[in-house]
Amino acid sequence: MSGIYLHIPFCKKKCSYCDFHFSTSFGKYRNRMIETLCKEITDRITTLKEPIQTIYFGGGTPSLLTSEELDALFSILKTGADLSRVREVTLEANPDDINDSTLENWKKAGITRLSIGLQSFKSSDLEWMNRAHSVEEALQCVPLVQKHGFDNISVDLIYGLPNLTTNEWQDHISKVIAMDVAHISAYCLTIEEKTVLHQLVEKGKLKPAGDDQQSEQFEILSNSLVSAGYDHYEISNFGKPGKHAIHNGNYWKGSHYLGIGPSAHSYDGVTRRWNVSNNFTYMKMEGNLWFENEILEPKDRWNELLLTGLRTSIGVDQQQLFSIFTPDAAFSDKVAQFMRDGWMVIENEHYILTLEGRLKADYIASELFR
Ligand code: SF4
Repeated sequence: MSGIYLHIPFCKKKCSYCDFHFSTSFGKYRNRMIETLCKEITDRITTLKEPIQTIYFGGGTPSLLTSEELDALFSILKTGADLSRVREVTLEANPDDINDSTLENWKKAGITRLSIGLQSFKSSDLEWMNRAHSVEEALQCVPLVQKHGFDNISVDLIYGLPNLTTNEWQDHISKVIAMDVAHISAYCLTIEEKTVLHQLVEKGKLKPAGDDQQSEQFEILSNSLVSAGYDHYEISNFGKPGKHAIHNGNYWKGSHYLGIGPSAHSYDGVTRRWNVSNNFTYMKMEGNLWFENEILEPKDRWNELLLTGLRTSIGVDQQQLFSIFTPDAAFSDKVAQFMRDGWMVIENEHYILTLEGRLKADYIASELFR
């Protein structure tokens, strides 16, 4: 099974922590961008050799698309491919874009799942992150979405902010549990280069939250959501049974996907491709120039399997890993050490991280890299 990702590179504002590709001044060329996205779909959709199971509108802010723009993209997708086996069509939405009219349009267009960027219920943190929405909009949008018959709703939260106390974090978690959504993604704030927050840290104007605070909030998150009936199936993702994200789940399993739009990535089992991260350069692309690519070496496939698999509750399949390389003594010694530390277990021939191990997932994976 395969998936299609469409990157919509527009945002109303630049959030202070965000290093995704987007532009806030897109008014004059948005028509040209939509035309170029349609052209890329036409050029590349037939390269997907497996049945399409998921479509994902990400960004950027896809909830800024008008109904005409969304219809144009769907129409090209339907013309170019068989969508009869699609099981999940996700659109990322910001609370300030959600209203009766947009919800009706999304329903009509065929969106089956909304991923809503709530992020926080604390006004000063929303302002600090330069989000475009208010606490009231964060609280009101989910009941409105439910009223319109969407039952597959995911909400995003951010923790590990410098001024977020444990009590405030517990309150945010209680609020999303009370919303009774199918899925919750919660990300620990990381200060990425080229972000406003990074500049503040460099100038000595911001002190990031400490590791202890972030770890404590991660443990509160996991324990609270698991007690409320959510599966903690990936480090940052929690789903009610049967409501795990299919699209992202397929990424972690190594399924094929086609990424459309500036900065989007694609994978066909052998080659990884990435589109240029510049709107104007992207709009000049055509033919076979849409992307740069690299053929994954066995070493890359080994490292990627560990990096993604160790983040999931299923873990890393030993058979799949050892089909790439036979494990050497250094690998086995490190695994044994991680097990003694209580960070890793082996179950059903899979390497799986414990809750404590998940706090160090990237470090553990990197120690096992080739
Ligand atoms: S709305 Fe999303 S993509 Fe846009 S700047 Fe904010 S976090 Fe980044």
